[in-house]
Amino acid sequence: MTTAPTAAESSTATAATPGDRPHSLPQVRRLRTTVPGPISLELMERKRSAVPTAVGTTMPVFAARAGGGVVVDVDGNSLIDLGSGIAVTGVGNSAPRVVAAVTAQVADFTHTCFMITPYEEYVAVAERLNALTPGDHDKRTALFNSGAEAVENAIKVARVATGRTAVVAFDHAYHGRTSLTMALTAKVKPYKHGFGPFSPEVYRAPTSYPYRDGLTGRQALDRAIAQITTQVGVENLAAVIIEPVQGEGGFIVPADGFLEGLVAWCRENGVVFIADEVQTGFARTGAMFASEHSGIVPDLVVMAKGIAGGLPLSAVTGRTELMEAPGAGGLGGTYGGNPLACAAALATIETYEADDLIGAARAIEEVALTRLRAAQAQDPRIGDVRGRGAMIAVELVDAEGAPDAALTQRVVKAAHAQGVIVLTCGTYGNVVRLLPPLTIPLDLLEEGLDVLLDALAAA
Ligand SMILES: *Cc1c(COP(=O)(O)O)cnc(C)c1O
Repeated sequence: MTTAPTAAESSTATAATPGDRPHSLPQVRRLRTTVPGPISLELMERKRSAVPTAVGTTMPVFAARAGGGVVVDVDGNSLIDLGSGIAVTGVGNSAPRVVAAVTAQVADFTHTCFMITPYEEYVAVAERLNALTPGDHDKRTALFNSGAEAVENAIKVARVATGRTAVVAFDHAYHGRTSLTMALTAKVKPYKHGFGPFSPEVYRAPTSYPYRDGLTGRQALDRAIAQITTQVGVENLAAVIIEPVQGEGGFIVPADGFLEGLVAWCRENGVVFIADEVQTGFARTGAMFASEHSGIVPDLVVMAKGIAGGLPLSAVTGRTELMEAPGAGGLGGTYGGNPLACAAALATIETYEADDLIGAARAIEEVALTRLRAAQAQDPRIGDVRGRGAMIAVELVDAEGAPDAALTQRVVKAAHAQGVIVLTCGTYGNVVRLLPPLTIPLDLLEEGLDVLLDALAAA
């Protein structure tokens, strides 16, 4: 679709003045060049000469501005954003409250290090997370920079609190790319291949993947517990870590009863239950945290991605008796809870609440599931449609029901060329995932789904 920009559109697209509100970008898909355009292609050449190929990009398209439900590229193309930079900009890019809070903070001070001279914003974020995360028990929060760093710190806390060393993660899990979190992550390529040896005392258990295992939650739970008991032993087990909806693994929603039973089993056996809510947290699934859908109360909650409107911040929130187990100075880091990121987080959390973005995620779910389930009824290549809130996925299969990664690649490439940013995931590379900003206008979401389904029909 290539249409001439209206006067209003071209003035917003060209007038990149600092005071210009990026969320006022026209909420339209509009292609001015082929995608990628000439300027993006030139920048990709520079990237190739300056950045290792290992740091990949989903699309060879460079961003210039973004807001609401669009990303505008350097060639002036306005793309529909169904990725949110991997579930990060739930409040939208350059969300007005975030821009105001960060702008004020950057002028006051940018860093003192919370471990040297602390500042109120860090404490305020901790107070907010202690109140927001599931359970009304007494909690403490420590802040870090990335999801992986927070996962590592949750494991450190669990080990010192229990005096045990083993950690169980699950099939299809993704917990990051640092040494310890690579060990926890299941998929070898591209995340782990050649990067070992991996951190010891990490064990893998089977998860619940209803579409592929056909098990009830109880059956999947019994299978997991039997393996953990025989291969690890509860007396050695510090923690179980799981994503309440598995993200990179394929947006896998476990069968009812699996998470509930796992939490109960952990509690009976003195094992710390860690919910990795890095991707699922902050309204993404139509609840502030995905754990709420199962009514579970994790001992430790790990958060990042949607926490601060795009600024790097992560957190571990948990039971006070666990979080107080490490000795003084045992947790921290130079940048953890950076003041700009904390200011952004406070503004982001306020935005989720004030603008009812939980309700927005549910509205997105309704639109996406309705469209995709209708398509599934017509097309046997859509094996499964699943997810919660604004975290919805389509698993593509061949005539035998086997994962079809090649088809998945063709579909997303065609959608990219039509100006829709869409990502894949899944252990078998055959899942198209939708992670729109919760601020996306629903008509734009519909248009993105049209493009995606047209691409599937043509593939
Ligand atoms: C992205 C992700 C991580 C890692 O976060 P980084 O900020 O990339 O280190 C960990 N766990 C889950 C569930 C994630 O989706």
